[in-house]
Amino acid sequence: MSIDKAMEAAARLALTHGRIERACQDAGRDPATVRLLAVGKGHPAAAIRALVAAGQRAFGESWVQEAVAKQVALADCAIEWHFIGPIQSNKTRIIAERFAWLHSLASLAHAERLARQRPEGTPPLKVLIQVNISGEKTKSGVSAEAAAPLARAVCALPGLEWRGLMAIPAPARDPGAARKAFARMRMLRDALAAEGLAGEELSMGMSDDLEPAVAEGATWVRIGTALFGPRK
Ligand SMILES: *Cc1c(COP(=O)(O)O)cnc(C)c1O
Repeated sequence: MSIDKAMEAAARLALTHGRIERACQDAGRDPATVRLLAVGKGHPAAAIRALVAAGQRAFGESWVQEAVAKQVALADCAIEWHFIGPIQSNKTRIIAERFAWLHSLASLAHAERLARQRPEGTPPLKVLIQVNISGEKTKSGVSAEAAAPLARAVCALPGLEWRGLMAIPAPARDPGAARKAFARMRMLRDALAAEGLAGEELSMGMSDDLEPAVAEGATWVRIGTALFGPRK
């Protein structure tokens, strides 16, 4: 790895941690309650390796084949892998076998397959339910109303551990709109907790809207561009 690449990765990581810390200060939150997921989709294994060298441990990928190639190339790195992309039924086994976290569960059928396919002797797959919080026709994720029954079903399955909710709000021109969507996610999480469904994680906020997400309680921010530069 060139010294330039290593320094650039360390600088981008420090800038992103700085943004998280400032957003936490503004919101009166402890920065230790917000974790950074580095989203490497569209970037080579070498770029991930540079961030690992700078101290980053949790990495997210959206496409199974691309993820597996990087996992093989980075087998010597201590990485916690998160799957954050759309789930295809014929890829659930790879997700069950090769990831620690799943952010994008949106169907009971997939939950049941993942539960069967999670290898015995490995810790349960930590699962977040993706909520289509802006009600977009083209977006994956369950409706807000469907989150509670799916969470309850996941809690009853072996091999899976329900940990909370994830959302990708609709892109908005008005910066307040993203924050409103994040606030709806926080209220949904709290409503589930009041029903005895205590999954405290909120995976929300990307490079352009990290701050409003943290203001509304994000516990995972999923950051690609700000850490890796633009995707091709
Ligand atoms: C690509 C992607 C991200 C990262 O987006 P950036 O805007 O590059 O930070 C986060 N979450 C999901 C689900 C993604 O697909």
